[in-house]
Amino acid sequence: MNNQFKSSEHLILKLQNSYELQKSTSNTAFFENKVTEQKNKIILDFNYILKPNLTINKGMTFKISHKGILQCVSCQKTVKKLFSGFCFPCLKRKASADTCIMSPHLCHYMNGTCREPEWGESFCYKPHYVYLSYTDKFKVGITRISQIPTRWIDQGATSAKLLAKVTSRHQAGTIENALKEILSDRSHWIKMLKNGNLRPSEEDFNEKYEEVKNWLANFPDFINKKLIVNTPLHLNLSNEIEFFENPPLVEINYDSPGEIASIKSLSLDKNPEIEGKITGIKGQYLFLSNHVFNMRKHEGYIVDIEVLNE
Ligand SMILES: [Zn+2]
Repeated sequence: MNNQFKSSEHLILKLQNSYELQKSTSNTAFFENKVTEQKNKIILDFNYILKPNLTINKGMTFKISHKGILQCVSCQKTVKKLFSGFCFPCLKRKASADTCIMSPHLCHYMNGTCREPEWGESFCYKPHYVYLSYTDKFKVGITRISQIPTRWIDQGATSAKLLAKVTSRHQAGTIENALKEILSDRSHWIKMLKNGNLRPSEEDFNEKYEEVKNWLANFPDFINKKLIVNTPLHLNLSNEIEFFENPPLVEINYDSPGEIASIKSLSLDKNPEIEGKITGIKGQYLFLSNHVFNMRKHEGYIVDIEVLNE
């Protein structure tokens, strides 16, 4: 790994991470707890990686300048304006830019209206997980196995645990949507950042976990199978909702600055030149003293970038 990085015409992508699990263990087995003699609680150590290969952390100087050039995350065309990372044609045409990606319970593949049915089959009709996590509060979320624990790190979750496994994004989203009756499905970014490494005790987390599981098991639509969604026959998918016996509680610590009085968000649209010392990183946010820079929100921005060690 390099300890500094300089590039012009650098494309901003969200921060990556690197971590190590027990040797020769798949993510699936590890987080579902199919590994023998696994602990009930895991403290996950990880590093933030700025693409292509820089380990980025507290104390580094971060310098970025933007001249108005943007690149669509989908078709890679250079454009003047992006909509959540997409150019306007991609926003209107790509299945990955459709509202059902953000609200998976609204999946409309079975109505025959998926924008890209083949893409839908390869992305949405794959195993998905429903999880309970803690960010600034308890929340429910869904993800694919390849995104665990990345999804939790991206959200700035300090604790998380898998709740159920299903065979489609639509099914996971439908369960998540039902759980919105007792849980939030999003966090407040300022509260999440101010929360630092606060988390419920293992006991409190597990108590909430059991409560959520029991609520679902007693939910009328769950009992009478109204929560089960249809899937394309030719894919031959099971409609089972698999719960886990005792998956590990995963705790994640961040290099968070101490007491924070106020937090202001920096935007390259308003501040095309940003420079400062990194005082912490949580979720996709770099702390630059009292300001934060959201990496994910700037995906697709082409910039001159320089990151230096002290
Ligand atoms: Zn595009």
